[in-house]
Amino acid sequence: MLKSPVVLSCIVLLCLCNHTFANEKDRVKLQLKWNTQFQFAGYYAALEKGFYAEQNIDLTILQPNFIKSTADSVLDGEAEFGVADSSLVLSRLNNKKVVVLAAIFQHSPAMLLTKKADNIFGPFELAGKNVARRPVESDAAVTAMLEVEHVNLSNINEVYYTRDDLGLLSDNVDAMTVYSTDQPFLYHELGIATHLINPLNYGIDFYGDMLFTSETLLRENPDVAMRFKAASIKGWRYAFDHTEEVIDWLKNKYGAAKSIEHLRFEAKATKEMVLPDLVEIGSFNPDRFERIANIYIGQNSELEGRELTGIDYRFHTNSVISALWVKWIIIIAAVLAALLVLFIFLSKRLRTLVNERTKALQRTKLDLQHYVDIVNKNIIISTVNIDNYIIDVSQAFLDISKYSRDELIGQHHSIIRHPDMAATIYEKMWETIHSGISWKGELKCLAKDGSAFWVDVVMEPDHDEHGNVIGCTSIRHDISDKKRIEKLSETDHLTGLFNRAKIDTFFNLEMQKFHRYKQHVSVVMCDVDNFKTVNDMYGHQLGDNVLIEVARVLSSNIREVDIVGRWGGEEFMIICPSQDIEGAMALAEKLRMCIAASEFPELGKVTASFGVTTSKIDEDETRESIVKRADEALYIAKQLGRDRVIHC
Ligand code: GH3
Ligand code: MG
Ligand code: MG
Repeated sequence: MLKSPVVLSCIVLLCLCNHTFANEKDRVKLQLKWNTQFQFAGYYAALEKGFYAEQNIDLTILQPNFIKSTADSVLDGEAEFGVADSSLVLSRLNNKKVVVLAAIFQHSPAMLLTKKADNIFGPFELAGKNVARRPVESDAAVTAMLEVEHVNLSNINEVYYTRDDLGLLSDNVDAMTVYSTDQPFLYHELGIATHLINPLNYGIDFYGDMLFTSETLLRENPDVAMRFKAASIKGWRYAFDHTEEVIDWLKNKYGAAKSIEHLRFEAKATKEMVLPDLVEIGSFNPDRFERIANIYIGQNSELEGRELTGIDYRFHTNSVISALWVKWIIIIAAVLAALLVLFIFLSKRLRTLVNERTKALQRTKLDLQHYVDIVNKNIIISTVNIDNYIIDVSQAFLDISKYSRDELIGQHHSIIRHPDMAATIYEKMWETIHSGISWKGELKCLAKDGSAFWVDVVMEPDHDEHGNVIGCTSIRHDISDKKRIEKLSETDHLTGLFNRAKIDTFFNLEMQKFHRYKQHVSVVMCDVDNFKTVNDMYGHQLGDNVLIEVARVLSSNIREVDIVGRWGGEEFMIICPSQDIEGAMALAEKLRMCIAASEFPELGKVTASFGVTTSKIDEDETRESIVKRADEALYIAKQLGRDRVIHC
């Protein structure tokens, strides 16, 4: 459906091209007026030499039928072209639409032949003689000659013309119409001296054989007419330049019923009629047609008042040219119209496509904007320049950091750095990014209101068109809840210290370091003295408060690298990495004094006992063996009266 205008346009173009440039030959027929002989040499030469083929014409030469004139044959459509003499003028006067294309014979070879012995040398001697003339239309020149010479036609005995070339030998024929190019040879061959009475000598100059066509053909297919004429004239030129060759074809190929000698005679005589060296073959003068017409009119009162028009093909030339132009204009207009239809269709299609694409783009843009909004709202993104100054942040980033956009853009990224995070983490992170590698990790960050939030970060370096790092874009995932659960799972609910499980984890790590690097780890076990009594006397709640205060004292008096946790009940454990027994003893003593010095509300003083030990360079040394020794030391401290530090 959509393609139909294109298909239609293409079909129109193809048809026009096919019509205009079709390679199929034009098939035409040429009607001769007499049997094959040199009289028609030009047409046979053109056929034989391929001059018609050159003009894309496929010619069939038709032999004469002697029943009707060639003019009638052509007008009846039996042939497209014909050869006829000046009788064409009479045809035209009789409204038969024949058109002369070329006058091949500049003079008519139709003359009266007499035997010299009969002493008939001119029109006057014909009085009382038997004259065999051709049908009147073909014998007009002879008749005109008689009239011009004021010969009384009633004094001439007209006898039947039999087309017998040797008719003059008959007793009842004194003169007969012949072609000067043909029959005289036969009498000469027989040794009979003859004489030709030529109308030309009496001022009657008719054209001889002419190439003609119908007005209809000229109007409908002027191109074929012109091409046929051109090829025929070329053939005639060839025939006179190669007479022997053409005679040979006529005789041996095209069946001319004349001897070679006869044909040679005919060729020579024909040349005198055609005058190829004097006149351009085929040319004619319309004035001569006028004169010929007047002669016909003078011979036939019925023709009086008639005018000769249109016998000259050039009379139709202008209209022919305009017909040609009209044809081409129609073709060009049709091509332009087809192109216009094609153009309109294509531009319409293009407009539809552009509209569809624009709508699709708008849809895509909206979809993209939707996704951007989702990302903006839900993904914590920030972009910093190479100096770590914030240049863009998502809404989700603003939400979690509790800053406004204006407060963040242009600020150094450290604005959200949490003090709990070691500076070395950031140094390593930026070093990685600046070397063009992405960085992943978990960071504790600081919100505007001082609260902390944890994020899982992927940081991707940004590059310029030369591949240089110009900053980085970070995508974060809020892991605060996860961190909170983690913290809960490793924290003692009452005191906030690490629980036993976490202490075990740290302890295991330190044991690995000890076995691998022989890096000592010391352990301090702390047990509140007589705690059961506290509970019993002051209640469980107060006991809890004691435990909380002891935990605070312990955690605030150890080194940064030391780890303190609740081991169970009223017992605490401190792991001291890279610490020898002396250092651990000193720490325990310090802690003991701090507890002893502390004032416990409603209770007053509380003491605690400490068992201390350190790792031994021993293959069998384990976490359990160390704890066991610390326990033993603590037990001894209890046994010795409490509130003291014992090592083992
Ligand atoms: P010693 O000096 O020999 O260590 O005597 P003690 O009483 O401290 O030791 P004992 O092992 O006999 O008693 C410990 C008590 O600690 C028993 C228990 O009820 C109490 N306790 C354990 N966990 C908690 C706790 O979470 N809160 C309170 N209030 N008491 C606890
Ligand atoms: Mg205990
Ligand atoms: Mg105790």
